[in-house]
Amino acid sequence: MSTQSPPDLPSRIRTAFYGLATCDALGAPLEFQPRIMDSSQYVRDMLPNSNFSLPAGHFTDDTSMALCLAHSLISKNGAHDPLDQAARYVKWLDEGYMSSVAGYAFDVGNQTRQSLQYYRKKPELSTLEFVTNKFNEDWRCGNGSLMRVLPCALVARTEEEAVELGKRSSQVTHPHRRCVHACALYCALVFRALRGASKGELALCIREWLAKAGEDIDPEIRARLAQYESLEMWQQMPREKISSSGYVLDSLEAALWAFFITNTFEEGAIEVVNLGDDADTVGAIFGGLAGAWYGDVSCISDRWLVKMQEVQLVNDVVKRITSLHE
Ligand SMILES: [Mg+2]
Repeated sequence: MSTQSPPDLPSRIRTAFYGLATCDALGAPLEFQPRIMDSSQYVRDMLPNSNFSLPAGHFTDDTSMALCLAHSLISKNGAHDPLDQAARYVKWLDEGYMSSVAGYAFDVGNQTRQSLQYYRKKPELSTLEFVTNKFNEDWRCGNGSLMRVLPCALVARTEEEAVELGKRSSQVTHPHRRCVHACALYCALVFRALRGASKGELALCIREWLAKAGEDIDPEIRARLAQYESLEMWQQMPREKISSSGYVLDSLEAALWAFFITNTFEEGAIEVVNLGDDADTVGAIFGGLAGAWYGDVSCISDRWLVKMQEVQLVNDVVKRITSLHE
C-alpha cells in the first residue's frame, strides 16, 4: 500500500494543463479518422500529424485557445473580460499567438472562426451581444468552448466562481445554453478533482448538478447525462454507444466516459483518442479533467512528454496560474 500523500494544488494544476496539451497532441493525428475497432491496433504513441503536415507532439487549437484564455484570466487577476479573451483568440488566429507552430493557427473550428471575425472587425461589447444572438441556435452546439475552458476551473477560488467563469467564457463564441452548461459542469468537475474528489463523488456531482439546475438547464444535456446515475453506470456503457463527434454533448460524454472507465491517465488517454473523429478535442477535454484528478505529471507517459513541442508555453501559464493561488 502506498503511503504517498495526495498531490497538492500546484501539482494538480500543472498536470491538468499538461494533460490537456498532451492528449490534444496525442489525438491530433487521429482527428477526422474512423474509429479503430481492434484494441490491439490502438495508437499508443505520439505520431506525426498528417492532417497538418506536422511532426509528432504538436498541440492544436484546443490547447492554444486554452492558453489564450488562461493569459486573459491571469492578466485580469482571475476575472472574466470577454473582449480581452476575444482579442487574444483573434491574435492566435491572425498571428499564431500561443500556437505550437510559430505564426500559424491551425485546426480552427467553423463557429470559432466565424465569431472571431466579428470581434476582429468591431472589438466592442456590442459584438458580444451580436454573437450571443446570432449563434444562439440549436445546430451551433460544437465543442469549441468546452475544449478551451479548463483555465476557468484552474484559476477559480470557489466552485461557484469556476462555474461562472466557465459559462461566461463560452458565451464569447458559443453562447447556446447547451455549450454554456457543458462548460459549467466541466468546470465544477475539474474544480472538485483539483481538491481531491473521488471518481464516485464526481459521478454523483453530475447527478447533483442536474438536480440543482432545475428548469433552466438545456433539456438535451439533461437527457444525455440523466442516464448515468452512478459511477457504475458510466462503467457499464459500451464503447459503441459513445460518439466522439464535435457536437458538444458527444465530446463531453466521450471524455467523461474514458475518465470513468479507466484506472490510469495513460489508459484513459489511449481509450479516448482511439475513438477517432474529433480525437484531439475529446482527448483535450479528457486530459484536463484526468490531469487534475491524477494530479502528478508522472502519471503522463515519458514517451509522450519527450515528444511535446513548445511545452514552455504551458509551463509559463502554469507558473502564473499557481501564483494567483499564493
Ligand atoms: Mg484541435
